[in-house]
Amino acid sequence: MVSARGDRMGRHRVVGVVVMASVTGGALVGCMPWQSETQGKDPASVAAAAKASAAAVEAKKAALLKSKAATAAQAHANELGQIPVLMYHRVVEKPSTQDDRTPKQFRTELERLAKEGYVPVTAAEYVTGRMDIPAGKHPVVLTFDDSSPSQFELDGMGAPKAATAVAILQDVAKQHPGFRPVATFYVTRDMFGKATPEEGAQMLMWLRDKGFDIGNHTRDHKSLRGKPQNQVASEVAAGHKLITDLIETGPVTLALPYGNQPNRKEWGLKGSAGNVSYDYGGVFLAGYTPAESPFNKKFDPVGIPRIRSMDKTGDCAKFCSVAWLDWLQAHADERYTSDGDVNTVAYPKFKTPFMMKRFTDRALPY
Ligand SMILES: [Zn+2]
Repeated sequence: MVSARGDRMGRHRVVGVVVMASVTGGALVGCMPWQSETQGKDPASVAAAAKASAAAVEAKKAALLKSKAATAAQAHANELGQIPVLMYHRVVEKPSTQDDRTPKQFRTELERLAKEGYVPVTAAEYVTGRMDIPAGKHPVVLTFDDSSPSQFELDGMGAPKAATAVAILQDVAKQHPGFRPVATFYVTRDMFGKATPEEGAQMLMWLRDKGFDIGNHTRDHKSLRGKPQNQVASEVAAGHKLITDLIETGPVTLALPYGNQPNRKEWGLKGSAGNVSYDYGGVFLAGYTPAESPFNKKFDPVGIPRIRSMDKTGDCAKFCSVAWLDWLQAHADERYTSDGDVNTVAYPKFKTPFMMKRFTDRALPY
């Protein structure tokens, strides 16, 4: 109830600002004629003129909404649809675990995403509902765990080394205009193999300045399952501090080591230890399905699924990236499609019951 009331108040505030701005604009432009017109007229006709002007503002707003809804319909926008959050570990020539991908496999997957109309957004942009991509495009979140040097390495001049995940992503983006070269790195104390705080800071600053997102993967990468709350909080806080000691920008999300949830899922989302506290927009798991839109009631910030990048073999016949990208391509009506306006949440009207209450102010059903 409290949040519904908050939403209504928010909408009134916004409407108030719009009306005030329009009236001010009108008065500036039409100051003299308006004064001479009303001179000597009775108060009733002045009030009628003001009412007509307010009605004109309302009509203009309605027309704008109608045109936005038409754009959304044309793009088949579905901002309550599902989003693939892909999970990568090492990108190496000779894979030695089921999590590794070769540079060629990684490039092939990115090229597929670009061809199928996906545009990368960061985990922070996703959980906060600020996915600014063109109409008709689909967001994809690329996540990299464990901060290994195969993901990101800089040469002496500060350029990413060839065959690292970052270099490949930048290269694919160059060949596919509109494919944003951004991703989220869930870092640990391994920090891309850098031993000193200065080198670690260089890496994180470079990523941040290029629009990449740094997420918390805890400092020591211990499983949080079965641990008491104070220990869970201390592991998460240590990862938070690891990042904030190197750059001023704090992480917005956490990826659980091994995907293991603590006894109470909320402990990963919010907590404090010593003088460090954290309050995240989302906590990510390690499997096995596409994720819900942040505007959909089904979105659960304490356990957001991710999809392991892998071909259709073994368990991955159904539950890894190639299989799920096939599925999303075949079920386009289940997939998140943008209306191109970051300030609205557009969707076919019949999906309205799934719209999350706290975003009602941005709703654009069509
Ligand atoms: Zn990990």
